[in-house]
Amino acid sequence: MEPSHQARRRPGDAVDTDQLANELTERFRQVLSTKRMNELTSRSVQSRSSSPAPRDFGTPQPPAPALPPSYSSLRNIPLVPQAPQDARSLRFKNMLHSLSNMPMRWENPGLLDEALRVIPLEQIYNEAEEESQILQAEAESLGSGKKAAWGYQDCVVRALLRWFKRSFFTWVNNPPCSRCYSPTIGVGMAAPLPDEQARGANQVELYRCSVDQCGAFERYPRYNDAFVLLQTRRGRCGEWANCFSMLCRAVGSRVRWVWNSEDHVWTEVYSVHRKRWVHVDACEEAWDKPRLYTDGWGKKLSYCIAFSVDGAMDVTRRYVRDPAKHAIERNRAPEAVLLHIMDEIRAMRRSNMSKQDKFRLEGEDMRENRELRNQVISSIAHEVSKLSVDDILSGRSSRPPRPDPDTQKALESRTSGNSEWIRQRGEGGRGAPNQQHPRDPTR
Ligand SMILES: [Zn+2]
Repeated sequence: MEPSHQARRRPGDAVDTDQLANELTERFRQVLSTKRMNELTSRSVQSRSSSPAPRDFGTPQPPAPALPPSYSSLRNIPLVPQAPQDARSLRFKNMLHSLSNMPMRWENPGLLDEALRVIPLEQIYNEAEEESQILQAEAESLGSGKKAAWGYQDCVVRALLRWFKRSFFTWVNNPPCSRCYSPTIGVGMAAPLPDEQARGANQVELYRCSVDQCGAFERYPRYNDAFVLLQTRRGRCGEWANCFSMLCRAVGSRVRWVWNSEDHVWTEVYSVHRKRWVHVDACEEAWDKPRLYTDGWGKKLSYCIAFSVDGAMDVTRRYVRDPAKHAIERNRAPEAVLLHIMDEIRAMRRSNMSKQDKFRLEGEDMRENRELRNQVISSIAHEVSKLSVDDILSGRSSRPPRPDPDTQKALESRTSGNSEWIRQRGEGGRGAPNQQHPRDPTR
């Protein structure tokens, strides 16, 4: 070992965590790549012995080059962005471009003012003021130089989140019968009526009252316009994320709409105080719990893409901290193509900006990339810390997982007030009982 390493590792010394994380990552990578090499070699040996290639006259061939895996350890190797060529990649590109329009639709000053009239601003600002003072006092009690956990504007969004979930928006699977308030049963889709279409509903679900004597039909237009949702105040996660994100924008936060390929959407808000994007899920009243979907719900995720008025970013690494456990193969386009698409959307959003603004946003992108990379590194380091020396030497990972604080947090949030919602939501988010607005049974 080099002397510099020894000096750095003396017990009691402050450990250079970046250096340590890099070393651990490297070691872990070697374990993985040795394993992968072994697998590939044995596979290629098998295939060669079973069906020798015509030109293969028994001369020993070098092992096939290790292909990069579709996720995890090698994700951080820089790729050169590549324009989409095949039909599948082009479809993915078109889809991402159209998804990227969502935050643009909130940029309407008149409508944002309108939105502000719906929010109980005084209550929100009072709560935010109070919370930020408490956080400030907490920080001061910890000693000089300590920063409050969240800033005032973060507390504004936190108060908005509480109000939105507890007294404004309603989760609706099947809309209740508006004639007799009984539960309804889904009977398929209906063509949108002119006024539904005018208000932006391209899809209308049709339900029938479960009471035979009533039998009334109930329409459930899936409104896609955040400002219409201020009136309807109901929906599933799409409506929740759309309307809530727009309201975050209305109170002056920078906001992102995050699309996940496994059928969920949520919000990210930029914390000026913490200089980073914060995960917010209005349906769950979740603030900064990016491990909610994986550790909390046990979901596997492939793509999480964030869109804002000034950019687009693949933020999957924020939500999938343990790729071995929670990533699914990303097969909609080669990774280099996804990079190209992200660059393209960013360039489009920034085309009319000043040089300074572009420069500032590029710096922000770089910081975020570093943040996401470090998250993967620290979770890999965490994995490595669970391996024994024998495991590392033999390329195994067999230790039972140790709980880590973030997992605990995510699990706690699952068993608190949100368990009710998850229960109601059911497996596929369908077929669960109706949840009615307490103050308005017709909703
Ligand atoms: Zn009825």
